[in-house]
Amino acid sequence: MTIVHVQQPVWQNQLKNALSSPEEISQALACDPDEIATVNSHYPLRISPYYLELIRQGGEPLFRQAVPDIRELDDPLGMVDPLAEESLSPVPNLVHRYPDRALFLVSNQCAMYCRFCTRKRKVGKKSMRVNKETIAAGVKYLKNTPQIREVLISGGDPLLLSDQALEQILQQLQAIQHIKVLRIGTRTPCTLPMRITPELVNMLRKYHPLYINTHFNHPAEITQEAERACTLLADAGIPLGCQTVLLKGINDSLPVLQELLYRLLEIRVRPYYLMQGDLTEGTAHFRTDIKTGLALMRGLIGSISGMAVPTYILDAPYGKGKIPLTPDYILSHQEDKLDFKNYQGIPCSYPFL
Ligand SMILES: *Cc1c(COP(=O)(O)O)cnc(C)c1O
Ligand code: SF4
Repeated sequence: MTIVHVQQPVWQNQLKNALSSPEEISQALACDPDEIATVNSHYPLRISPYYLELIRQGGEPLFRQAVPDIRELDDPLGMVDPLAEESLSPVPNLVHRYPDRALFLVSNQCAMYCRFCTRKRKVGKKSMRVNKETIAAGVKYLKNTPQIREVLISGGDPLLLSDQALEQILQQLQAIQHIKVLRIGTRTPCTLPMRITPELVNMLRKYHPLYINTHFNHPAEITQEAERACTLLADAGIPLGCQTVLLKGINDSLPVLQELLYRLLEIRVRPYYLMQGDLTEGTAHFRTDIKTGLALMRGLIGSISGMAVPTYILDAPYGKGKIPLTPDYILSHQEDKLDFKNYQGIPCSYPFL
């Protein structure tokens, strides 16, 4: 008799061993199980062993992203669906807000449930149903909507699907003539970097032009493993961007943000957006004042490589779309010239032609 050992990939073991109960988390990180259980009755819970180790090393800024906090249940300004995604969904799990691109949610799971998640109302919950039917309905809508040139594949986290399941989706999208560009949003390079395997990358490289936007919020998240994951993806010709969320007490300081942005460039990830926290219910304790965000942008622009400077984005409530928030450099519009100040505050002007 032969015994066949089927080796689970490392990333699947990480998920199997993820902490997902109040007891496990309170034991691992010495916190109050009752508080966590109270929050957990509203919102899901998951921390991969990999990220747990990072929390042990990196402390507070990582702890707060991952561990439930009783303040999640106290948010008077909060809205369940601040971006009106549900009313902008022609079929479930497909948000069509802009004319030429659509957001396709193909997974309801993540390697970690970030406490500040903008889709907290559904990600990781049973009520978010993603299955063969919803995916088929999404593909059908995309096929029948020729003005869509780009599809953003998101979730949850699309890289929690198996390589085969993800490839089936990519194949169907690639077969649609009017879809020219694919983009995947995934936090796995940060929260589960072992998900980025040579097999996955060899599959993904068949679907160019394919872009990946990932999500790092703090320099302590940029580890050797994260660098290995990003290198594999970049070497497969996949341009990498980062959508960082501005989080109070975590990355809303100039030194932390500068270090994060520099480190991202070093691992070949181009900072794309710095996102102002949405008004998502349960995230009040993470929200930073817009004035603070603008001051941070003023501190970055000109002082660090332009390659490292993201666009500071406000996603307007009620699904009105993203707008850039930029510090004001213009002093006045004169008859014949524009008066402005440079990044150091020195006044300058340029003639109108
Ligand atoms: C953010 C978002 C996009 C993509 O916007 P970009 O500015 O192109 O990154 C598309 N659709 C929806 C619904 C979004 O929320
Ligand atoms: S990885 Fe993204 S979608 Fe998943 S919980 Fe975190 S913020 Fe939300």
